[in-house]
Amino acid sequence: MSSAVGSFQDVLASYEPVIGLEVHAQLLTRTKLFCSCPNRFGEPPNSLVCPVCLALPGALPVLSRQAVTLAIRAGLALGCRVNEVSVFERKNYFYPDLPKGYQISQYERPLAVDGAIEVRAHATAETAAGEATLSRIRIQRVHMEEDAGKLLHEGYSWSHEKSGVDLNRAGVPLIEIVTAPDLRSPEQAHEYLSALKAVLLYTEVSDCNMEEGSLRCDANVSVRPRGQRTLGTRTEIKNLNSFRNVARALEHEITRQVAVLASGGQIAQETLLWDADRGETASMRSKEEAHDYRYFPEPDLPPLVVNEGWVEEVRRSLPELPAERRQRFARSFGLPAYDADVLTQDRALADYFEAAAAESGNPKAVSNWVMTEVLRQLKEDGPAPARCPVSPQALAGLVRLIDAGTISGKIAKDVFLKMWQTGEPASAIVEREGLTQMSDESALERVVAEVVAASPEQAASYRSGKTAALGWFVGQVMRKTGGRANPQLVNAILKRALGGA
Ligand SMILES: [Zn+2]
Repeated sequence: MSSAVGSFQDVLASYEPVIGLEVHAQLLTRTKLFCSCPNRFGEPPNSLVCPVCLALPGALPVLSRQAVTLAIRAGLALGCRVNEVSVFERKNYFYPDLPKGYQISQYERPLAVDGAIEVRAHATAETAAGEATLSRIRIQRVHMEEDAGKLLHEGYSWSHEKSGVDLNRAGVPLIEIVTAPDLRSPEQAHEYLSALKAVLLYTEVSDCNMEEGSLRCDANVSVRPRGQRTLGTRTEIKNLNSFRNVARALEHEITRQVAVLASGGQIAQETLLWDADRGETASMRSKEEAHDYRYFPEPDLPPLVVNEGWVEEVRRSLPELPAERRQRFARSFGLPAYDADVLTQDRALADYFEAAAAESGNPKAVSNWVMTEVLRQLKEDGPAPARCPVSPQALAGLVRLIDAGTISGKIAKDVFLKMWQTGEPASAIVEREGLTQMSDESALERVVAEVVAASPEQAASYRSGKTAALGWFVGQVMRKTGGRANPQLVNAILKRALGGA
């Protein structure tokens, strides 16, 4: 199969993928959607349940106002229009994790419609100054629904033949965000998900924790020969639980579909499950149609009415969104597109950068520190940016010491690590450990003279025109001075001492 279609780039040369994504995001509410059980992860199975979410006879749902407010927030942040009247409906199907035998969802009249999100292809460090390509991905709808419970197939020491069910998640509020089929590559799907996640995090609608299932994704995908306008038959890939898996599964499925079409076959419309361990999809069922679910309005809930006052109140409470912040960072701090993009992915990280940049007087230097050392340490140690042991003010202090020539950039990296471990300011560490940069010309001249005298061969090589030998000499001087020598000064003195070239 792979020999017939070659690499993924070859696949894309003659066929165009058409992708739409459906993302389920768990809302950051205090309670479940229709009862007062806590919306909390990680509690003992079936400890957060009541007659409503257990679907006991006679129990009635009561809609959480906070959940509606968060869903409106997401809708507005995604540029949607909020419908004044939306309707909860029963989506009927049987599954052991669904005690009611139906899920309360929205179908014909969703909460919010017709939005869009700007997705930019990530600039890389190499193309930092290059123009960013922006694509507008349309959001067809944002609707509210309740989550189902969770089946537990593993860890049942008492039986290998039974599964358990945990209904703590049953009734937890979700929004489903559905795009138009506007995405054209697995990479772009990944960029869309990153952009969407940033919006949901900024607005504090969801914590987007994929390990805990707070963000889940289904993908619809079809392919068509390039130049063809009509859409091909699509398949749906279910329950993709990481951005990486979304991209991998799409690449796999696109390759499979192209191979089928290229050999004269036809795509069957079906639902597929992604097997991350085996790196392939498996057929789950032939695609169900909406009428299979026998949707009808939920008789226990009145239509949801959201008046203009509610919408405006939510609109006023929206924070600066990632796209706006990215533009502002580029404009007011003079940052390259790449930096602005990386720094605004996470609201707390953007806050951190902004506080440090304002105090340092050198935003680009701060940006470099945040994107390299700070992000690396955060990744290794795992704290959230807000609890970073090096405060924004302390990082600004370190950058000021470098800019003033007090310490070299090389020493600064060691100082940064010590700041991270001890929480001390840079100045205290530099002073105690005597790390101040050596800018005393006569002292440096003595060191240079010693180094040059000890390496006549390297000196001759430099004089014969091999200028790369200069770097080797700089290294020797740095070693002798414990990395404290001012590099510009060392370069100048070395060139004088070596002559030639
Ligand atoms: Zn409950």
